[in-house]
Amino acid sequence: MFPTDQEPKAELHCHLDGLLRPSYVRTIQAGGFCPDLNLKELSNYYPVTDIDAWFRLGRFYEPFQQGNGDLLLEVLKLYLHDLIAQNVSYVEIMLSSFFDLEDERLALMLQRYRDTADNIDGIEVGYLWATGRSKFEQRADRVRWLWRQGYIDGIALAGDESARTIKDFRDIFQDFAQENIPVEIHAGEWLGPDSIWDALEYGHPRRLGHALSLFDDPALPPYLRDKDIHIEFCPTSNIKVAGVKKIDDHPVFKAFEQGLNFSINTDDPGHFECSMNSEFRLINSVRPFAAGETDLIFSNALRSSFRDQGDESS
Ligand SMILES: [Zn+2]
Repeated sequence: MFPTDQEPKAELHCHLDGLLRPSYVRTIQAGGFCPDLNLKELSNYYPVTDIDAWFRLGRFYEPFQQGNGDLLLEVLKLYLHDLIAQNVSYVEIMLSSFFDLEDERLALMLQRYRDTADNIDGIEVGYLWATGRSKFEQRADRVRWLWRQGYIDGIALAGDESARTIKDFRDIFQDFAQENIPVEIHAGEWLGPDSIWDALEYGHPRRLGHALSLFDDPALPPYLRDKDIHIEFCPTSNIKVAGVKKIDDHPVFKAFEQGLNFSINTDDPGHFECSMNSEFRLINSVRPFAAGETDLIFSNALRSSFRDQGDESS
């Protein structure tokens, strides 16, 4: 089998709030962070095997992570070094848990995230602001401000896709498109192709998160290919918390055959105990990569990245 561990890689779908894991807890506690987090108790929440377990672990971590940009920055540093060891040279991190800081403190925090990443050799980091659909309207102006200030490279609409349709926000997304703000939308993770069409028609996304139901409508694959819309697959996450029963059923294999533009990602690598290397190995175990295919995934991810690509007119 073609070994993929040292192949060049880029990750586009990874949530800051999903990075923490027991091994990182041990390291950051040695540095004085979150001393009250009980490692023994934490072990009861693993492995995460379904959506309920995912929520339970998220609730356990929340008091430590929520609003704690300092802690999460330490966690991010550990993750970036892990990525470098896997030959990942570009990553986009979705931020969300300290959105409620007032403007000046939020700006300072985001600048620290930028500076920290820029000072780590071997990897380039882009930041997306990720927000759920239920709170999107209240947050849209702030997201736009963060983007205009250069603190973020784009936005991701994440969370429960059944909460609201993208059509509900059509005017906001139209404004974002006019301003060339790069948009990613999680769609087709739990719902069918109508949810993907809703995102495409009203959200103007350059990328879709998951899009697992894309082959349920024969019109969707050619549309995505023609428009060169990138799909972020997260195989382990898709098996554990979405509708994919086993890796053999994952749409990534059809995406290969039909020449779609996609990447392979971890989503919440701490929760799911996965890594970029384990995701590539998982796919490789079902359908071994042919020569050049990992390079193609890498180059597709890079050209679909949002960093420095927002305002293409400038
Ligand atoms: Zn996600």
